[in-house]
Amino acid sequence: MPESTTRIEQVETFLVDLPTIRPHQLAMTTMHGQTLMIVRIRTSDGIVGIGEGTTIGGLAYGPESPEGMKLAIDTYITPILLAADPNRIGATMASIGRSVQGNNFAKCAVETALLDALGKRLGLPVSELLGGRRHDRLPVAWTLASGDTARDIAEAEEMLGRRRHNIFKLKIGKGDPRANVAHVAAIKKALGTRASVRVDINQAWSEATASAMLPALADAGVDLIEQPIHRRHVKGLARLARETPVAIMADEALQGPDSAFYLAAGAAADVFAIKIAQSGGLFAGAGVAAIAEAAGIGLYGGTMLEGAVGTIASAQLFSTFGELAWGTELFGPLLLTEEILEAPLEYSEFSLRVPTGPGLGIALDEGRLGRFRRDRAERSVHLLKTGS
Ligand SMILES: [Mg+2]
Repeated sequence: MPESTTRIEQVETFLVDLPTIRPHQLAMTTMHGQTLMIVRIRTSDGIVGIGEGTTIGGLAYGPESPEGMKLAIDTYITPILLAADPNRIGATMASIGRSVQGNNFAKCAVETALLDALGKRLGLPVSELLGGRRHDRLPVAWTLASGDTARDIAEAEEMLGRRRHNIFKLKIGKGDPRANVAHVAAIKKALGTRASVRVDINQAWSEATASAMLPALADAGVDLIEQPIHRRHVKGLARLARETPVAIMADEALQGPDSAFYLAAGAAADVFAIKIAQSGGLFAGAGVAAIAEAAGIGLYGGTMLEGAVGTIASAQLFSTFGELAWGTELFGPLLLTEEILEAPLEYSEFSLRVPTGPGLGIALDEGRLGRFRRDRAERSVHLLKTGS
């Protein structure tokens, strides 16, 4: 592509604090709200690209927080973007990669905004810039994580009744492992063959505990077991994958294509949870998927519990995969009480429709977003304190 005259004129980042519909209990934390870091890139031809960086429970899940992503973009990435050609995303991201180590989530948010802007400029969905869409709808799992068995069963029944979800992921790993297994078995017994029940241990168990508990989870009828042990213990994960009749999925262990190659070479997992932020961006996520496909590892579309922007960025990538044998968990926006898009996402018939418009194919509702921006709240507090 010849050098374009289009320039990046402005990079804006801000935090949005949104409540969740209920507490969301995981092995490492219980969430009562979610913070989205939104980045907006405005180019000289008037196009605005949007991206999102979101994680789980501040710094409880991984090494990046929403506040840290904002700082990394404002201080270190924005000066590179202001000198970059927005049509050359590969070169721009490589330039950022030379100056900024790590910070996968921040890089993913920026790459998303660049892809959104380029798609809008070309009149094409982001999926077409990533190799081409092959699916218009993606199956979506729901996570049962209220912390209460009866409440989880009632929630699952409601989702089945509304035909919104028939795949349920249970967050376990907190407290007594035997109680965890009993909780899972009770839910699977209640739902029977009407639903796929899976578990995510979020690295909480030792290999010995996992080795003792996984057969009971298999007996209970669980279809998929996610990251039972710490992400460092790749050989342990491989031993569990070999001895367990149920498929084992790697999640936290996958930190981009390098780790994907290491896991695949070590036969450490039957399924990969592809996450765009954890991979370091959409192109890196595509690289993880390519390694999985070459190794005969099944694909699952993961979430960092992103809001609508990160969810649709993920959906644009996942829609390009040949086979998505295990579906996705792109339910993040449904966990939030507030709609931040002009037109809500379409969840029906156990799936999410991938938008067809240019770029990400979504538009933020500025009015609603403004009510939950953290800088707005800080301004209000300042006005109260000063009495002005
Ligand atoms: Mg997980």
